[in-house]
Amino acid sequence: MKTMVILSGGMDSTALLYGLKAEGEVEAVSFDYGQRHKIELNSALRLAIRAGVTHHIIDLSDVGRAIAGKSALLAGAEDIPVPEGHYAEANMAITVVPNRNMIMASIAAGVAWARDCTLIALGVHAGDHAVYPDCRPDFVDALDRTLFLATEERIGVIAPFIYMSKAQIVTYGEQYGVPWELTHTCYNGKRPHCGRCSTCVERIEAFDIAGVEDPMGYEPGGVEYARSVVAAKAAAEASVVSSGSYVPKNIRHLPLFRQDD
Ligand SMILES: [Zn+2]
Repeated sequence: MKTMVILSGGMDSTALLYGLKAEGEVEAVSFDYGQRHKIELNSALRLAIRAGVTHHIIDLSDVGRAIAGKSALLAGAEDIPVPEGHYAEANMAITVVPNRNMIMASIAAGVAWARDCTLIALGVHAGDHAVYPDCRPDFVDALDRTLFLATEERIGVIAPFIYMSKAQIVTYGEQYGVPWELTHTCYNGKRPHCGRCSTCVERIEAFDIAGVEDPMGYEPGGVEYARSVVAAKAAAEASVVSSGSYVPKNIRHLPLFRQDD
C-alpha cells in the first residue's frame, strides 16, 4: 500500500508525510495554485527532498488566477491585508481559497491512481474546521466516498489529524523528526516569520502548548506579540479545539477510527 500525501510545505502536511513515511511507502504532491508566496512551495520541495520521497509539483497557476479576487492568499490580491491576531477570529475568512482542497484532492487522486497509490492523505486538523469548510470531517467523508466511486474503489482518503489540535501535531511530528525549520507557516511570506499573522500566532501557540522549542526564526517582538494574543484569547482557543464532537458516517479510511476489515 502506497499513500500520496498532499504536501503544502506547512507544519501539518509535513508531519503527516514524516509519520506516514515511517509506516509505509509514500509519495508527495504539491500544487502551485498561484499562492501569494512561492516560499511555501519552495519549502515543500526542500522537505520532500529531505524526506527522500518522490515529489510531484502540479502547476495550477491558471486555476489560481481564475479563482483569485476574494482570498488574501492568492497572487493578485496583494491589496488585501493578511489578518493579524488570533486565528479563531472571523477575519480569517479572507484566507479561504475557494474550494482548494476539493481541487487539489481531485487531482491528487488522479496522480495517486497513476502512481499505484491506494490512499491520498490530507493534513487537515481540528483548528481548521471553524474557518475552512473543505477541512471539516463531513467534507472528508464525502470526498472519500466520491473518490472511492470515481476510481472504481482504488483510492481512499485519510485525514489522521482531523480531530487533533495543532499542538498535538507538533508532538506527533517530534516523534518522527520533522525538520520544523524547513516548514513554512507565515501568511505574510516572511523568513524569519513575522509572528503577527494569524498562522504565525497559531504556530507559536502550538509549540508552546506542546512544550517543544520552535527552531523557526521570528522577527523581533513577534513571539511576544503572539503570546499576548494567545493569552487574551485562551477561552476562544479552548472552544475551537473541543469542536470535534462530530462523528463521521463513513469512517472506513480514518486510521484513528479504522476497524479491521
Ligand atoms: Zn507571519
